[in-house]
Amino acid sequence: MDALGKLKRLAPDTRYEPAEEVGPTGSRAPSPACRASQKDLEGAIHYAAAPGGRRVPLLKTLVTSACERDCYYCPFRAGRDYSRVTFKPDELAKLCDQLYRRGAIEGVFLSSGIAGGGVRTQSQLIDTAEILRDRYAFKGYIHLKIMPGAEYDQIVRTMQLADRVSVNLEAPTTASLARLAPHKLLVEELIQPLLGVEKIRRTMGGKPGTWTNPYRSGPSQTTQFVVGPGGETDRDLLRTTAYLRRKAGLARAYFSAFNPVTDTPLEDLPAESPVRERRLYQSDFLLRDYGFGVDELVFDNEGNLPHDEDPKIVWARHNLTHAPVEINRADRHDLLRIPGIGPVGVERILRARRLGQLLELSSLRQLGVLADRAAPFILLNGQRPTHQLRFW
Ligand code: SF4
Repeated sequence: MDALGKLKRLAPDTRYEPAEEVGPTGSRAPSPACRASQKDLEGAIHYAAAPGGRRVPLLKTLVTSACERDCYYCPFRAGRDYSRVTFKPDELAKLCDQLYRRGAIEGVFLSSGIAGGGVRTQSQLIDTAEILRDRYAFKGYIHLKIMPGAEYDQIVRTMQLADRVSVNLEAPTTASLARLAPHKLLVEELIQPLLGVEKIRRTMGGKPGTWTNPYRSGPSQTTQFVVGPGGETDRDLLRTTAYLRRKAGLARAYFSAFNPVTDTPLEDLPAESPVRERRLYQSDFLLRDYGFGVDELVFDNEGNLPHDEDPKIVWARHNLTHAPVEINRADRHDLLRIPGIGPVGVERILRARRLGQLLELSSLRQLGVLADRAAPFILLNGQRPTHQLRFW
């Protein structure tokens, strides 16, 4: 089978590996020429968000879909009746370079099953990226996985070659990981490498020539959780994410709602609700961009987020209904807590206030604020604004 054939064989199953995807709307779409160059690559191309709202096409694939581990949720698990595909590093690097030159992709996301141990598998990933960077002078974006068991020097080399690295935590606690992947070690194989990446970044910092990517402080790093079958709570997921953001400089956590795969031990479990995935992302943005702490969020008795409403609105109902925020005097921190007002809206309100008082919802609308969402939780010069109550 040629390299393109292998890529097509792998494509349907790479959807289980979220990699900085963005949806089809809300961002600038790829050009028709780019689309045309992606002919025959259905399923292998995914889109990442780039500054300015651009969608960057990435080739997402595995060096091998053979794996000696037996994670319960995974289509590539050892022993599953599944036709495996393996690329040689030079074969995969050549394919990536060809797709890059014809304009079909702007970067690659390379992962792998574990074949012959984590050290050997990491070597295959490094070899592929080295050939791309050195032989083909590839200037595109590279996201590389760090395998469980990879050695320190391999992590350093991986970081030198990549714009982004990732270690998939899969679950936020030892108990939940045991229900998903009983042979993975949460701390030793997964959390330690994430912390190690941050330590290497800090140690090597901005030394000239350290990184082949343009970010002087080294590549960013992400992780992924499989949400649902591990019995983890949303509070567990968000606490672990917040810890890693603090300690490991985590750029993003991906929450992947579980979908059962046939012929795996979890095949009879129901799929996880995509609404749960959405609430987790919304909450994580509150932690990352809005200054919320995990324990401020509203969870149910089991430690899960309510599904029926946006977590910022739930928080506001509990905290602002009887203590509305005065738009004309509140500081940045308090303004950010109001539903319907984001970081951009806050800056616009602060600028507008220098010119005069904001007295009407229509003035907020003109600033791009979702004024009707904010209305139940604000005061405008001491007055509650009149607004249409929501019917339930
Ligand atoms: S190690 Fe990765 S590829 Fe292998 S079974 Fe587990 S999740 Fe799947």
